[in-house]
Order: sequence, then structure tokens, then C-alpha cells
Amino acid sequence: MPRVDFRTPRIYVDEPLAWAREVTLGRGPVNHLINVLRCKAGDTILLFNGRGGEWRAVLAGTGKRVKAVVGEQARVQPQPRDLHFLFAPLKHARLDYLVQKAVEMGASRLAPVITRHTQVARVNLERMRANVIEAAQQCGVLVIPEVAEPAAFARVPDLTDAARTLVFCDEEAEVKDPVAALRQVRRGTPLTVLIGPEGGFAEEERALLLKRPNTLRLSLGPRILRADTAAVAALALVQAVLGDWGGD
Ligand code: SAH
Repeated sequence: MPRVDFRTPRIYVDEPLAWAREVTLGRGPVNHLINVLRCKAGDTILLFNGRGGEWRAVLAGTGKRVKAVVGEQARVQPQPRDLHFLFAPLKHARLDYLVQKAVEMGASRLAPVITRHTQVARVNLERMRANVIEAAQQCGVLVIPEVAEPAAFARVPDLTDAARTLVFCDEEAEVKDPVAALRQVRRGTPLTVLIGPEGGFAEEERALLLKRPNTLRLSLGPRILRADTAAVAALALVQAVLGDWGGD
């Protein structure tokens, strides 16, 4: 693994990054750097934009006009992976957690799905995106996952696209070795991991999921997990057997 620098503050900017470019930092990052981390002009930070790798930069300017002058590239942009995470949204703090953990686990797209027993109807996409950026900054993730608009169960593109393998985490599935089950899937196949609502899937939803071609019904053991736990467990299994935990 390329060495990740966790001592230097890392900031996301939506700007092109190249040697000697001057990047004006927004209010949020400036407040974080100057007031929280007590950085000063002349200090080194890291910048990334989700497209062009990670760059060292030096802070310049004061007050409201804090800039960063870009220096050398620290890490190149990794190849994006295709791992969608489809989930029934949870409430507030647990949704924040779910989103942050999915980013850390390497999901490339976060897509909320509204099922019959989903208790949250309105999803704050701005807050989801802020959590995505925060997790990426914190953990040195350079590929920023896309955040999809919430979709009703019947309208989720991943469920109708038979080219994608759907890893359907189902607490009613027979308990079997999940590693052996995932080994049946061809490496490199586009994958979607689906975690349902706390209220469980409705019978007709489960029936539709099981009828869908290319669905792998996965048990995560003999205990019922909360949705946020199930998400981390499922993404860990998938990354270990089929994803980037196994190296290239
Ligand atoms: N309401 C259900 C639990 C839902 S848990 C009940 O009480 O019976 C929320 C989601 O986590 C489920 O939809 C499923 O996707 C996942 N999940 C939880 N435990 C699981 C397990 N043992 N195996 C597979 N998936 C599980």
C-alpha cells in the first residue's frame, strides 16, 4: 500500500490540482485548518479533488483569503472500482455512520432505496455528501463515491440491470459459509451490495429480489445484525473475497 500521510491535514477541493497552482480555500476548510487545527501560513497540507490524486500544498494568505499553493504530487489517483452500496436509509446519526463506513470500506456509489418498511422517507443528500467528504479526508480515500438520489424499490436501476451481481444480504437466508458463496462470483463482475431496512423486507420485495437473475442471497450468520453493522460486515466480506483486499 502506498504510504498514506495521516499527520498532515487533508482537504478536499473541487478544483484542478497541478504544480504551482493557487487554490482558494472555502470557508469550511479554512475554519477547520486555522481555528481547529491551528495551522498558519507556511504550513503544509494535502489537497485532493477525487480525480487527480493527492498533492502537497503550502498555506498562504490570512483572514478570509487563505490560499494553498500546490507543490508536488504525493499519491496518484487510484483506479476506480465498481462496488455499489444500496441501502435503506436510517435516521440521523446512524445514517451518518453508515455513509462514513461505506466510504471507508471502498464503496464507489451510495444509493438509498426506499422499501415498504423503510422508516425514513426524506434523505438529506447534502448531509450524505458532507459525510462522504469527511470520511474521505479522514481516511485518505482518493476516489469520492457518488451519492445517488433516493429511489423507490421498484425503480432502482441496479435491481433491473441484470449485468450486475446483486449481493442481497438476507437475514432469512440459510446460514452458510459466506466466503464460499462469494467465491462463486466471477472476479471483476460489477457488484451491488444490498442492505435492507431495520423493519426487514416485505415479502413481495424479497420475492422480487430472489426472482431477479444474478442475485446472490447472502447470510451474515445466525444473528440478526443492525443495518449499519450488516453493511460493514457485508462490505468486508465482499472486499476480501472479490474486491481490493485481495490485491490486484
Ligand atoms: N427486521 C428484521 C431485521 C432487519 S436487519 C428482523 O428483525 O428480523 C436490517 C438489514 O440488515 C437486513 O435487511 C439485511 O439486509 C441485513 N442483515 C441483518 N442481519 C443479517 C444476517 N444475519 N444475514 C444477512 N443479512 C442481515
